Amino acid sequence: MGGKEKEKITPRRRFFTDLAHHIGLGAMGVLLWAGYTSKAKSSPLTLRPPAALDEEDFLKTCIKCGLCAEACQNRPQNKDVNGKQLPGTLKMAKAGDNVTIGTPFFIPRDVPCYMCDDIPCTKACPTEALDITRVTNPKTKELDIKMMRMGVAVVDVHSCIAFWGLQCDACYRACPLLDEAIKLVYNRNSRTGKHAFLEPKVDPDVCTGCGLCEKACVTEKPAIFVLPREVALGKVGAHYVRGWDKKDQQRVKERNLNDITTHDERSKKKPIDYLNSNSLGL
Ligand code: SF4
Ligand code: SF4
Ligand code: SF4
Repeated sequence: MGGKEKEKITPRRRFFTDLAHHIGLGAMGVLLWAGYTSKAKSSPLTLRPPAALDEEDFLKTCIKCGLCAEACQNRPQNKDVNGKQLPGTLKMAKAGDNVTIGTPFFIPRDVPCYMCDDIPCTKACPTEALDITRVTNPKTKELDIKMMRMGVAVVDVHSCIAFWGLQCDACYRACPLLDEAIKLVYNRNSRTGKHAFLEPKVDPDVCTGCGLCEKACVTEKPAIFVLPREVALGKVGAHYVRGWDKKDQQRVKERNLNDITTHDERSKKKPIDYLNSNSLGL
């Protein structure tokens, strides 16, 4: 036989070659998928269900079973007058949601959290990724949905029309903690001297992050929206002390600093004085 004889490919050999090929591709697929899902980290703006642990612990504890979302979907209020099922608040993340795949989250502008008194989502969680103690009054041992802190509502004062002087209290009226989590603050319009603004102001110590205000906001893109608390709120270092303590007051007294102000002679004058006189001291 001249030259190199072409290797015979028997059906058996083809079977194993194909098998190896598919296993290889499969294994590669599994590796790629595992890599993708582990890399598909949640956006820092992700809002988790009530009583969720802090994000890092939540991701370690949530087994992606979907029971919370199912309980949310099945709550009795989720039926309209004709018995039609309405969407639940919680969704389980899919590829492209920008949230770790298989974990629960919600988008208030689509469906906010309705702050169910019996908190079915949290009760359904088998792993304490939703920690019921976070929404249980330590004294009465009763569930208290007001204790949840899913996020905090933030007002964009540039797009909130109440800050333009227009009358709008949609967010205020939508809030389940009316006049507690969100208040309307009276502000005089210094431009006209006649009109007043009634501006929504959120108290972050009370706001639960339910997003009912965001859902109700009348602007095209909501001017009030919920952000995770780590994103929206600052943190004061432990070395800062709120207000003056007695020691400080005593020191001021001793040094006779009571009269010291931040205004020097120049800043007490009106800007017009500087324009009309050469008093800038330059
Ligand atoms: S409290 Fe109610 S509406 Fe809110 S996420 Fe849980 S089940 Fe859904
Ligand atoms: S019920 Fe708990 S463990 Fe299951 S998906 Fe929801 S948060 Fe995760
Ligand atoms: S998110 Fe909005 S509606 Fe919900 S408690 Fe906070 S201010 Fe009220």
